[in-house]
Amino acid sequence: MPIAYCKRCHRLFNKGRRDLCPNCVEEQEQVFQTVRAYLKQNPLANLMEVAEGTGVDPNDVVDLIREGLLLVRDNPNLNYPCERCGAPTQAGRYCTKCAEELTAALQSAREDLTKRAGQDRRGYFSR
Ligand SMILES: [Zn+2]
Ligand SMILES: [Zn+2]
Repeated sequence: MPIAYCKRCHRLFNKGRRDLCPNCVEEQEQVFQTVRAYLKQNPLANLMEVAEGTGVDPNDVVDLIREGLLLVRDNPNLNYPCERCGAPTQAGRYCTKCAEELTAALQSAREDLTKRAGQDRRGYFSR
């Protein structure tokens, strides 16, 4: 089994599917339950209110959302800055706009490659 440093407590552990050691997985699960229960009671809370209300580090709350464990579709005020432009984000690392732009950029890069491959082939056949 591969060994890795836990992303959260930086202890060595036998790496499974996750970047967290079993200890932290358990802690994260508890944090998740706490935050989810709080949001059920306070659906309009923002990140700081959630952190204050639950005693959970705001970064841990953001981690839960980024990793897709915590869904905040029903919590319009709960957001964190996009890693690219700083706009309020509710899922993943980027806001909707940046996610779309990045997908489009990737798409056009891929189309470019296909086009170039096509030209190469034509060049080959005309020889
Ligand atoms: Zn850990
Ligand atoms: Zn953005």
